[in-house]
Amino acid sequence: MHELSIAQSILDTVLKEKHERGLPRVDQVAVQVGALSGVLPDSLQFCFEAIRIDTELQTCELTIETVPITVECRECYARTTVEDFLFVCPKCGSVHVDVVAGYELDISYLEVPDPVHDPADP
Ligand SMILES: [Zn+2]
Repeated sequence: MHELSIAQSILDTVLKEKHERGLPRVDQVAVQVGALSGVLPDSLQFCFEAIRIDTELQTCELTIETVPITVECRECYARTTVEDFLFVCPKCGSVHVDVVAGYELDISYLEVPDPVHDPADP
């Protein structure tokens, strides 16, 4: 299962970061998953929740931000978001488009407790 190994690498990366920065806990990890990355967000979420049990990250939530496919047209240079995997420029109808976003699979941020301010108490 592809998503399981990705969930494991996210968990490993967060654990490493937690230790390196001496964080008491990590509340949330956000990842960007491109529509072309081949990763199923629901499956990734399920795998992460399964493997975080019995680790220091058992209360850490995974937030998945899906990144739509964006193409740039070679004819008119318009940048547009593609739906339904239709790789055609909606501005001029050209099929000569380059994918400029959609392959992402990155951790975008970690949410950690603020040492001074409690976010629950504004
Ligand atoms: Zn175009």
